[in-house]
Amino acid sequence: SPPAERYEYQAEVSRLMDLIVNSLYSNKEVFLRELISNASDALDKLRFLSVTEPGLLKEAVDFDIRIQADKDNGIISITDTGIGMTRQELVDCLGTIAQSGTAKFLKALKDNKDAGGDNNLIGQFGVGFYSAFLVSDRVVVSTKSPKSDKQYVWEGEANASSYTITEETDPEKLIPRGTRLTLYLKRDDKGFAHPERIQKLVKNYSQFVSFPIYTWQEKGYTKEVEVDEEGTDEAKKDNQDENTEKKKKTKTVVERYWDWELTNETQPIWLRNPKEVTKDEYNEFYKKTFDEYLEPLASSHFTTEGEVEFRSILFVPAFAPSGKDDIINPKTKNIRLFVKRVFISDDFDGELFPRYLSFVKGVVDSNDLPLNVSREILQESRIVRIMRKRLVRKAFDMILGISMSENREDYEKFWENFGKHLKLGCIEDRENHKRLAPLLRFFSSQSEEELIGLDEYVENMKPDQKDIYYIASDSVTSAKNTPFLEKLAEKDLEVLFLVDPIDEVAIQNLKSYKEKNFVDISKEDLDLGDKNEERQKEMKQEFGQICDWIKKRLGDKVASVQISNRLSSSPCVLVSGKFGWSANMERLMKAQSM
Ligand code: ADP
Ligand code: MG
Repeated sequence: SPPAERYEYQAEVSRLMDLIVNSLYSNKEVFLRELISNASDALDKLRFLSVTEPGLLKEAVDFDIRIQADKDNGIISITDTGIGMTRQELVDCLGTIAQSGTAKFLKALKDNKDAGGDNNLIGQFGVGFYSAFLVSDRVVVSTKSPKSDKQYVWEGEANASSYTITEETDPEKLIPRGTRLTLYLKRDDKGFAHPERIQKLVKNYSQFVSFPIYTWQEKGYTKEVEVDEEGTDEAKKDNQDENTEKKKKTKTVVERYWDWELTNETQPIWLRNPKEVTKDEYNEFYKKTFDEYLEPLASSHFTTEGEVEFRSILFVPAFAPSGKDDIINPKTKNIRLFVKRVFISDDFDGELFPRYLSFVKGVVDSNDLPLNVSREILQESRIVRIMRKRLVRKAFDMILGISMSENREDYEKFWENFGKHLKLGCIEDRENHKRLAPLLRFFSSQSEEELIGLDEYVENMKPDQKDIYYIASDSVTSAKNTPFLEKLAEKDLEVLFLVDPIDEVAIQNLKSYKEKNFVDISKEDLDLGDKNEERQKEMKQEFGQICDWIKKRLGDKVASVQISNRLSSSPCVLVSGKFGWSANMERLMKAQSM
């Protein structure tokens, strides 16, 4: 056979390999994800190119990926029936970085104007292949391109500066098309070559790759076998001849054998047409993916197009997890990010959703992000910023949907669990005030039992009423007994009861709703539009002196003593200054500083 040819890696590759092995991935097991994703890319390319070049499919083999693990020898092989590589491609793709095959392919796509948009091919430069050396001493790539009539073998070792290429001559190793990677694992990493471990990794990282992934698994089936009765002395033999039925005994045994087992689901639910997915299917997917036993309150399945393309299914859970930590800690693992159907991460810290929406669960699958996307990339990426904006918008639509549901209980349930989150949103996310405000719910002087929204409040406003009135208090009972209410009650003006400590801060952040200002009825300058100058003058003359006297007696305990026009039956009321804190806020601040 022709001798092996030796090539030097491009300097960048050597550096990159060092980097990968020593620092890039703290998580070695991702090597399998990277190699499967390459196999999947290779199948994608073949499928795409064969549309215009059917000759590429002259070998009638299925599009699939097969992984075999030999635990005794610490060897893993990954075989695909994709586009393969020619000798030159081996040099270009596995010996240099600048010419990543995917990058080249993309360029070719761009050059070819009528090729137009197979999104799955928009790969990004990644370090994928070299991650094989995270766990391997030696990697052998045997590959056959349908463009070449020869099969070539690339062979490289960890920490080496060169690799070799030979022609495959062993007839046992010939493949009809595609690529077989053989990994000879490092001594400490041989544990990866366990069929069960491989199966687990595939399920975890590559469950939704769109080609079937088979793994080589040991299986068993039970069968009944006839067994002789113990003892074979003459007497028994005689008996047996007389009555065969009685003497033949059977036993159940397990036959062991090895076979390929389909290990992934080839069509992830989010790639399907939303019109064809049933509610049950979404619910099942939700429960399985997030280990939930209750159905979600709502779901939203969508694709976005244009500047950034991604698919997503979002869910609103039926319950907030117990423990109040989650509102403070956005690392909920609630969003699973996929890049081209390959699982990337669920470890986010506000990159895809602001923390007040971190209760939303879901999957996001992007074709525009690199596979090796890191926290830093996520934080700085423009693509991610756009994605985040769209995801947030969709989440609001979904919540609005619950609020408009005929089933009022649904939103009550939502509000009970996640109302606090939305109020936090009013404080933290100015940009989305318009979306947040209609979702808020409060008790009011005219609705002490049932929560109302701001829209309902506005509809109930008196024709000449300009503002939205509220009073912050620690309970509905104390709110409705406050003397501040008297004048408003007389005029039949509705007042919102803000009984959750965060309510008041949220409302103050909103400032207004539908051009109506929020007005605290406990503040000194409350104007109910009924000022009567004449009468005020009279009152001042009559009671001015007593006010001065009271102020003198109370000294610094109060800022001022004034004649009020807002009481009807109480003799006096303690109010907070126009620019001061409300009594409720004071209570809050006190509670926090303790
Ligand atoms: P990327 O996948 O981002 O291009 P990789 O380092 O993972 O980067 O792979 C480098 C290149 O090697 C790929 O672009 C592809 O051209 C080639 N390659 C790797 N694995 C395969 C495979 N299984 N079949 C065909 N080509 C492959
Ligand atoms: Mg890759």
